[in-house]
Amino acid sequence: MAAALPKFTFDQFKERFPNEEACLNHLFKIRYSNIAACPNCGKGFDYVRVVGRRCWQCTQCSHQLYPTAGTIFHKSTTPMETWFHVLYMFCITRNGVAAKEIERSFNVCYRTSLRMAHQFKDLMNSGINEKMTGQIQMDETFIGGSDTNRHLNSKAKGKEKTAVFGMLCNDGTAVSDVVPNTKSKTLLPIIQASVERNSTIITDSSQSYYYVWNNFKKHEVVNHLKCEYVNKNGYTTNGMENYFMHLKRMIKGTHIQVSEKHLSKYCAEHSFRYTHRNSPDKMFDIALNRLMK
Ligand SMILES: [Zn+2]
Repeated sequence: MAAALPKFTFDQFKERFPNEEACLNHLFKIRYSNIAACPNCGKGFDYVRVVGRRCWQCTQCSHQLYPTAGTIFHKSTTPMETWFHVLYMFCITRNGVAAKEIERSFNVCYRTSLRMAHQFKDLMNSGINEKMTGQIQMDETFIGGSDTNRHLNSKAKGKEKTAVFGMLCNDGTAVSDVVPNTKSKTLLPIIQASVERNSTIITDSSQSYYYVWNNFKKHEVVNHLKCEYVNKNGYTTNGMENYFMHLKRMIKGTHIQVSEKHLSKYCAEHSFRYTHRNSPDKMFDIALNRLMK
């Protein structure tokens, strides 16, 4: 039997962050724990909490440090406890968190909840700087609902579905983003910028990938047109298809409708969650640590 995945239960979350003070203390710690001297007076780092403010003060020169300065929490009047709780929801969910759900669950207006949701998406969007290497599945999909359910205006304007391209490495890292089209000249630069040359690329038999064979170590093709789902060498793109299935479920089931303008952010959020899906306990800390970069 496979080992059970680690959990990050609500009880564990509340134990770590029981109140506003615990959240602020945590931010102060991840932001300033590596500093040995006061950045203003240069003497030892001896800061004390200023009551009633989100800041700490140097006991030598009274210089103040705000751990939330320059982060998404900057100037927000929403309690840090609420911010942390919403981030917890973002890490625990499989199908995303709607802004309306945040509005219903907390004492915040819809504008605030929408801003929080988008800021967490931005937070999850950053972070993958290294090129992927190993065995990488690639595929593309189209998002935008079926024509039969479309509003007459959308049909009349000839709006097309939005293309999304995705890559899934065998180390678990997943990325996806909106692309203007799925032509080979569009996809090749993206793949070259994200994948090491010594990698094995696994795709379906689409023409979009015909150039892959001479740019990377190996190109394994799974021919879906012949109802092949595992090729003769044992390669498959099932992982990537599973990824897109979850992305579509998140968009249809939770957000109902996502504008083309924001679709990229939803892809990034899903990629982040998918990449860290086997370690929800660490996902929260990874997301929060990105704030301090
Ligand atoms: Zn000082």
